Amino acid sequence: MFDIENLVRPNILALKPYASARDEFSGKEGIFLDANENPFGTLNRYPDPYQKELKKQISLLKEIDEGKIFLGNGSDEIIDLCYRIFCVPGKSKVLSFTPTYGMYEVSAAINEVEMIKLPLNENFQIDLKNAIPFLNDADLKIIFICSPNNPTGNLMQTETIEFILKNFQGIVIIDEAYIDFADAGSWMDKLSVYRNLIVVQTFSKAWGMAGVRVGMAFADEKIMSYLNKVKPPYNISSPNQKQILKKLGDKKNTILQLNTLIAERNRLIFNLKKIAGIEKIYASDANFILIRVRNANKVYQQLLDRKIIIRNRNQIIENCLRLSVGKPSENKKLINALKHIL
Ligand SMILES: *Cc1c(COP(=O)(O)O)cnc(C)c1O
Repeated sequence: MFDIENLVRPNILALKPYASARDEFSGKEGIFLDANENPFGTLNRYPDPYQKELKKQISLLKEIDEGKIFLGNGSDEIIDLCYRIFCVPGKSKVLSFTPTYGMYEVSAAINEVEMIKLPLNENFQIDLKNAIPFLNDADLKIIFICSPNNPTGNLMQTETIEFILKNFQGIVIIDEAYIDFADAGSWMDKLSVYRNLIVVQTFSKAWGMAGVRVGMAFADEKIMSYLNKVKPPYNISSPNQKQILKKLGDKKNTILQLNTLIAERNRLIFNLKKIAGIEKIYASDANFILIRVRNANKVYQQLLDRKIIIRNRNQIIENCLRLSVGKPSENKKLINALKHIL
């Protein structure tokens, strides 16, 4: 039987969380003299520590219980909180499939947790036979699966993820930052089957709210209780909560933009294919495209000279460049520039 208490760090199990004034009284009416707030102004009050209004709207959107939603100051905060809840510095390990999102490793280093990095195969898929020997290691606490993966752009195979969920007793974090761009459903639907699953999504990409810093985690209530225990009490500011609420009220426009971006991605791929100097264009289920050229450093610099900034991924995947999908006019300029350069 899966028991979350076996996974949580002993000091976190024992932790007495900070009790804020808003924990003790959360009504909206009255004379508030309990939180040492300044009575003047419009942003003078502390925000709702549990973002109830926002979670209500997200629960309607995602068709999930409010109690299974956690909001972080970006997904990056959620990732860091998971390290702090489940990993003992200097002892625990985590595992990821590389190349992937850089924050998993940075956060591991900050928390003094060893990261086992298993290379994805030539199709950028998880090689299960490499992972299997690690699944029974009691010190291995978290496996990160980024799907669609950054920077490769592809979804990880369903059967592989399912195998890991079934055969690993630690936490599996599926990072779905790009899921809205993908032709696939979310792993959120499997939360009731896998109590060790945390699905992470974000408002930074498809919702266009990277500046606001709001990430979402979906998981079993037990996991939620620890995320809430460890998080800074007021981790999402009230203007930021308000901005996301406003965005959620304008869902139609977001969907239109999302469809534009997906169409633009496919059009970019179509046009990139016509440029002979591009050696490979990887399939994408995200809002970016990975391409391989003969000399990535040179192409990167030549685009920079034309004031087009892309991501040079040569250091992690030889001669590869990552192109974010921009506005139609921006994409056109990118294609024209690449035609000139290559
Ligand atoms: C962009 C991105 C995120 C988003 O992080 P935020 O902190 O929510 O902005 C998360 N995971 C991956 C893989 C990403 O590429």
